[in-house]
Amino acid sequence: MRNLIALFACSCVALSASAANDPAAAAAARLAASVSRPASAMVPAATKKAEPAEKKAEPKAEPAASASSTSEEDAEVELSAKIAQRLAALRERQQARATAAARAKKIADAKRKQEEQAAAAAAAIAAAPKRGTGWSYEGETGPANWSKINSDWVKCGTGNRQSPIDLRDGIKVNLEQISFDYHPSSFSEVNNGHTIQVTVGGGNFITVGNTVYELQEFHFHRPSEEKINGKGTEMVIHLVHKSAEGKIAIVAVLLERGQPHRLMQTIWDNLPLEKFDTVSPAIVIDPTDALPERRDYFTYMGSLTEPPCTEGVLWMVFKQPMQASPAQMALFSRLYPLNARPVQSTAGRMIKESN
Ligand SMILES: [Zn+2]
Repeated sequence: MRNLIALFACSCVALSASAANDPAAAAAARLAASVSRPASAMVPAATKKAEPAEKKAEPKAEPAASASSTSEEDAEVELSAKIAQRLAALRERQQARATAAARAKKIADAKRKQEEQAAAAAAAIAAAPKRGTGWSYEGETGPANWSKINSDWVKCGTGNRQSPIDLRDGIKVNLEQISFDYHPSSFSEVNNGHTIQVTVGGGNFITVGNTVYELQEFHFHRPSEEKINGKGTEMVIHLVHKSAEGKIAIVAVLLERGQPHRLMQTIWDNLPLEKFDTVSPAIVIDPTDALPERRDYFTYMGSLTEPPCTEGVLWMVFKQPMQASPAQMALFSRLYPLNARPVQSTAGRMIKESN
């Protein structure tokens, strides 16, 4: 019995072996394999059924093969349906990814555009010329920040020929005398928010070297802006001149406490009541009264000591101070207790002084 089962199994193996090239044989082999399973299960009936089973294998091969091809078609249909499903799912995922990427790109683009616009706006603000006009001697709008208030005032921060300076280590030479050609003149005065400024009528000149400068105005600072060997005085007068070519020359006269100052008194007597109001008294002043007896001086190249801090200014500072009374000093200090720019770096500039 066992030999018969073994024989059947062998025939199955033979069928399987030929199945590689022959679909019909393969189908037969599969059928034979399926039939051999119940045969081995029913061992007692095997003797009788072994013969017909083997004989049945031949005629059943055709229908079995056709059944198998139907199931293969089903499988193929099922498979292509699955593939189609997979492809659809894949396409859906791809589409979702593409949509998400597009949305992300759109958001990123919008963000970048916004950032670019913000940067451009910031750059425009930074590049735009500053046109502030408010400056003072202390705090936010004080000397350290003058250059940031107005684009035309950069020299106040970056200039290396700035004034005032501490006058020391001057080269002693035979400086030529400054030739003064001052006369009694009409004048107007104003409290301009930074100092008391006196504008004089034309015709007052100085000559230095070969250059003639005309007196424009004079004004006061407290304390003196310039120092001599580190020492300043209580006040100073600056007489501002301009040449026909527009060059500026400023004569500084230091003021210390003592006798009343005649010219100053005339100015104080005519002070306007309101800031920025200009008064033009029906009297004359002689700017010569602003000059000390001795005319030896320090000289160097510097700048305006207030915005826009223009450089190329010829400075001449008299060594001999003049005097003003404590009452005259007190009056000015009530208006301007502090209107002096701090001393600036000499930056290797040559300072000359009279012997
Ligand atoms: Zn000044």
